[in-house]
Amino acid sequence: MKQVYDLSYLDTTALIYLIALAAILGLCMGSGLNCAAYRIAHKKSWTKGKSICPDCHHELHLLDLVPVFSWLFLKGKCRYCGKKISVRYPLTELILALSYVAVFLKFGFTFYTLNIMVLVSCLFTLSLVDLDTMEIPNRFLIVPAVCQLIYAYYYGEWASVWYCLWHGLVLGGAVLLISLFMDKVLKKESIGGGDIKLLAVLGLYLDIPSSLFLLIVACVVGIILAVIINKRENGKPFPFGPALSIAMLITMLCGDYVTAWYLGLF
Ligand SMILES: [Zn+2]
Repeated sequence: MKQVYDLSYLDTTALIYLIALAAILGLCMGSGLNCAAYRIAHKKSWTKGKSICPDCHHELHLLDLVPVFSWLFLKGKCRYCGKKISVRYPLTELILALSYVAVFLKFGFTFYTLNIMVLVSCLFTLSLVDLDTMEIPNRFLIVPAVCQLIYAYYYGEWASVWYCLWHGLVLGGAVLLISLFMDKVLKKESIGGGDIKLLAVLGLYLDIPSSLFLLIVACVVGIILAVIINKRENGKPFPFGPALSIAMLITMLCGDYVTAWYLGLF
């Protein structure tokens, strides 16, 4: 179900307004989902309780929670105890904002954009949790899967739903078989169960050529992330969820151009 939408019917002012709206929505969602990911990783209720500084436990006010700007204004330090606040927070908020803008520019002012924004938000949160805990929470797999199947039904009734389920089964099943084989050869777990479930969900969105493209990009991004994480924390096993998430975003945004070019060679 590849879709590209034309935005040329919008005048420049409307386009800038919608891009700004997507960016602001991305920043706010990034801030909220960062907080949710932190709470899930630290086994706290992710819906109850107010935001506090993890060091001095002082309750944070609205002005301390403005995405990116609070961090810049406070020079990356807590207003109350002066402890450093990781650059990860503003950086990831910016990444989600840019992702929202890119998704909007690619898929236009449509339901499909909303569907992909849900996927991107879930990938964003599960990546942050995976980085901290090496686990992918199921709830961030169920939400995009359900949204994509509802969208598929809306788009092309049951035929589209079966199409999605078949591609999810092919991608998840293929990687499951590869991982079982690798486990036997390496005599240890090669690909985590969470990563295989994530791939099955990503397969719901992709056709076969795009799935192959996703796997290639995921390997390249995975190697780059492994080198970076290994440099910082020697010998620490690295989570694959963030690499798969980044690869999925790249595949959604430009996979169709690359696979069309590649298939055109033959
Ligand atoms: Zn503090």
